[in-house]
Amino acid sequence: MAFEGLAEKLQNTFKKLKRKGKISEKDLKEALREVKLALLEADVNYKVVKDFIANIKERSLGKEVMESLTPGQQVIKIVKEEMTELMGGTESKIEFTSKPPTILMLVGLQGAGKTTTAGKLGGVLSKQGKNPLLVACDIYRPAAIEQLQVVGDSLGIPVFTMKTHKSPIDIAKAGVEYAKQNHKDLVIIDTAGRLHIDEDLMDELKNIKNSVFPTEILLVVDAMTGQDAVTVSESFNKQLGIDGIILTKLDGDTRGGAALSVRAVTGKPIKYVGMGEKLTDLEVFHPDRMASRILG
Ligand code: GDP
Repeated sequence: MAFEGLAEKLQNTFKKLKRKGKISEKDLKEALREVKLALLEADVNYKVVKDFIANIKERSLGKEVMESLTPGQQVIKIVKEEMTELMGGTESKIEFTSKPPTILMLVGLQGAGKTTTAGKLGGVLSKQGKNPLLVACDIYRPAAIEQLQVVGDSLGIPVFTMKTHKSPIDIAKAGVEYAKQNHKDLVIIDTAGRLHIDEDLMDELKNIKNSVFPTEILLVVDAMTGQDAVTVSESFNKQLGIDGIILTKLDGDTRGGAALSVRAVTGKPIKYVGMGEKLTDLEVFHPDRMASRILG
């Protein structure tokens, strides 16, 4: 299960803290040292950990906390609040345009889960009353186009493709045009990925962006890749500009580093999380629930 090691360590530290009646500054520092180590072991970004611990220390050392009747509880409450804040505070929704169609452009590295997520997102949003169209722009991997078609078929969502005959920009433009003519109020564009970020990939994505002006660019990243996911997110955000992140494979045994760092490092919210391979396994990301899951 995701976050298992981290959750266990933090919960042990807090159990010790709760058992004490009064806590000294030394007790607090020792507890925070354990929290820091647990976060670093979970592959959370170093600077994120440092700031996080500093905030908690500053808020906890005040008289109201240290001299309260339940200082341990107070510290745990502060940690939960800060962890929720670290992951974005409140849930972050997709902004639909007032002038349909809303265009969502999914980007990311190959294998992150883009194609699957395009389908999942279409499924989730069609349940909310949207009328989506999936657009297949990965012309380099015919298998990716077929995969999107299979996904679309099983969800009953139409897939716009021009196979590999046209450029991704032309396909994206034609897809949006098709959506307008066929009363689709949501276009989800599945773009090509590469194994690594390279200039060609970014140029292509920038060109698509500048041709169809997506309402939102959503980066799909694999939570299992830890800090690499964070580095990838930073690059996509700097080079292309993203509006949000979809973190996949959170059902796996990820240590948690990506989920806890990516928002603080990029400033962009995690909007959804992938929780399995099934097309229904996509959930809105709730920072507070995630913090509760980690902290018990
Ligand atoms: P793409 O190359 O980015 O389009 O990635 P795909 O959509 O083809 O996904 C790559 C693999 O990851 C597939 O086997 C998916 O079933 C799997 N996958 C995608 N999202 C999730 C998820 O949230 N959880 C799990 N366990 N597997 C996922």
